[in-house]
This record gives sequence, C-alpha cells and structure tokens, in this order.
Amino acid sequence: MTADHVTSVLAGLDSVRSWQEEFYRDLHAHPELSHQERRTASHVSVRLRDTGCEVHEGVGGTGVVGILRNGEGPTVLLRADMDALPVREATGLPYASTATGTDADGTEVPVMHACGHDVHVACLLGAVALLAATPDAWNGTVAAVFQPAEEVADGARGMLEDGLTDLVGKPEVALCQHVLPLPAGRVGTRVGPTLSAADSMRITVHGRGAHGSMPQASVDPVVLAAMIVVRLQTVISREVQPGEPAVLTVGSIQAGTTSNVIPDHAEIALNVRSYHEQTRTAILEAIRRIVTAECGASGSPQAPDFQLFDRFPLTENDREVTERVAAAFSAEFGADAQELPLQTASEDFSDIPNTLGIPYTYWGIGGIDPETYESARIAGRVAQDIPVNHSATFGPVLQPTLDTGTRALVVAALAWLGP
Ligand code: ZN
Ligand code: ZN
Repeated sequence: MTADHVTSVLAGLDSVRSWQEEFYRDLHAHPELSHQERRTASHVSVRLRDTGCEVHEGVGGTGVVGILRNGEGPTVLLRADMDALPVREATGLPYASTATGTDADGTEVPVMHACGHDVHVACLLGAVALLAATPDAWNGTVAAVFQPAEEVADGARGMLEDGLTDLVGKPEVALCQHVLPLPAGRVGTRVGPTLSAADSMRITVHGRGAHGSMPQASVDPVVLAAMIVVRLQTVISREVQPGEPAVLTVGSIQAGTTSNVIPDHAEIALNVRSYHEQTRTAILEAIRRIVTAECGASGSPQAPDFQLFDRFPLTENDREVTERVAAAFSAEFGADAQELPLQTASEDFSDIPNTLGIPYTYWGIGGIDPETYESARIAGRVAQDIPVNHSATFGPVLQPTLDTGTRALVVAALAWLGP
C-alpha cells in the first residue's frame, strides 16, 4: 500500500513526463565524454533553477548540485552521473547519437550514452521537479548531485575535492540508481556488496637486453613476464577462499620489438575485481609478492615498478538503509521490486558517502522492453540477445524506464523526508 504523501507527490508524474521524455531524447542525441559534460550540465542547471533549486555549477569541473530546501528535516543526497562513452551508437533509435568528441589522448571518437547515464539525469530531474511541486508532502532538504566522469572513476572525487561537502553538509543518507539490462518497470535492491571494487595495475619488470643468439648475456624479461602471467593465475584459485567472487585478468603484455633482440623490460597491465576490502588488499599484495619474487628468481637487475590506475571503490550497500528503501519499493512497485543480483561492474558513487561518512544504497532499474526480455529469457538467450551497458545497441526503452526511475528516486527519498 502506497502512503498518501507518496501518492500526492507522484500525482504530478504525467506533467513531468511531458518535458522529461523530450529532455531525455535530446540528452541521448547529444552525449558528452567524461569531464566534457558542459552542454549537459548547462541544461541540467536551467531545469534545476526552473524548479526552484539553489544551483551550484562547475563543481569538480562540470558537476552541478541542486539544493531543494523545504523546512526542518533530514537531508537526502541523490546522485546521477552525466558522462557518455566513446562508442559508435548502433541502436537505430530515431534519437540515436551521431556525435563525436575528442578523448583525453586527443583522438576524435564517436560518443554515445551507452551506459544509460542520460536515464539517470532525466529521472533525477523529474524526481526533483515532483518534490518541488509538492512541498506539503515532505520536510527536509534534497541535495541533487549531477556528477561528471563516472566512467573514468574520478568524477566523484573531483566534486569532493572541489567543495561538495560544504554544499551538501552531512546528509542522512546517499541514494543512487543505475539502469541495467533487466526488464523495464523492475527495480532491484541488494544488501551488502553490490558492485565490485576495481583496480588496474601496470607492472614494469626489468631484464638485461642482449642479442637473440646470446641469451646467456641477458636477463630475459619476456620469459620473466610469461612466468608472472602463469603464476598470477594461482592468486584467485589458490589464495582466495572458494565461493568468494574475485577476478584477476591480465589484459595486456608487451615486450620487445623483433625476433632476434632480447629486450630490457616488459610491461604487464592487469585488472582486479573484488567484493570485500580484505580480499582486495590480499589480492593486490599477492600480485606484488609474486611479481617481486619472480623478478628475484630471474635475476632481474632492478626492482619491478607498480602503478595502480582506474581504481573504483567497492559499492557495499548499508543493510538498514537498503531495507528501508526495499520496503518502500515493495509498497510502490509490488512484485516488480526484487533482489538485485551481484553486479560485476564498478562505480565511483560510493566515494561520496564514504567521504561524507554517511550510509548509502545503490539500486538497479530495468531498461529493456519487458516482452523482448521475456522472449529472450524463455529461449534461454538473455546473454546473447539482450544488449548490456557499454554496448553499441544498449538503448533503454523510454517507458516505463523513465517513470520507474523517477518513481524509485521519489519513493526512496520520501522514506526519509516523509511525515
Ligand atoms: Zn558505464
Ligand atoms: Zn554507468
């Protein structure tokens, strides 16, 4: 049963839909790469001002914060990310992107909202508009955070380093959602670890170069790197407890230029996914230990170099907060509110609540046409036929995706701001 105050806030959904769908289509057709979300940010700011928010622009580059005050009461932080990806859109949608952008290396690339961050932006603007229009139904403050550069893992940190804490104070809770390849209309919550922590590491091992015909004069970094890659396969299989999900992938190995020269170094780039801080630390330590020991075994003349990059924090949903949101979702969505399976993707959202020292929850909403999804499920072809985030054919259906995401944000926020 949906409570009265929720019903009265959501009564405005029809009028929100009239501009929200158009806003979404425009955003989808005009995606912007990480740290370049200038057009998006300016459109967001205009909308927020229209709804009566206090608006702060340029937070951490292109970040925008909208503060909606409505008397005494708790503050709830809601976060949406704004950036798109260097992907050439192939959805065939009438509002598909043909945009291009210049990436951090200066290369011109196609740009697409392939992760659905345009859904997040449109839904959060809709939720803020609904709350702004019904001040009698709730009390407190909404801090709507529109974050840049989630895809490169440093947008949240950028906003925090640029004064986000001063703008939002200490909210009671932080809430966030992501559109996923699930049936549209569905919402999924999960207690505890939800998205993986991710760490990328670049390792340089040093050898001694020589003529390919004189291996005795060399310390061969190609053989050394090969041994390391094989030995690293034992980290997950022999050192992590069975049943604890974790991934270690060596994605790149580079050494030498030709067949008859033994090079003097090799580079390995790897990626680690984990769901507990302890596991994460143990894996990263095991990698250093193995690489250092293999270098010793090979007689490497110089200690290896380790460089961590593209680090995403663990997303671990607070039990109490998640249960409160899950109960609110059940009341609003009935059987469409379900448990979210563990996700292998990563997010930098939790940097915000972790830095503010507040609990949080992160939930998923479906974006796939329910009939399409159901046919694929019956045929046992979900993995093959349903496009996932970051793919060129990931194009969430407009409805009920936008309605669901908007309602989810409102209902979750009201679990704190309601009477
Ligand atoms: Zn993404
Ligand atoms: Zn995303």
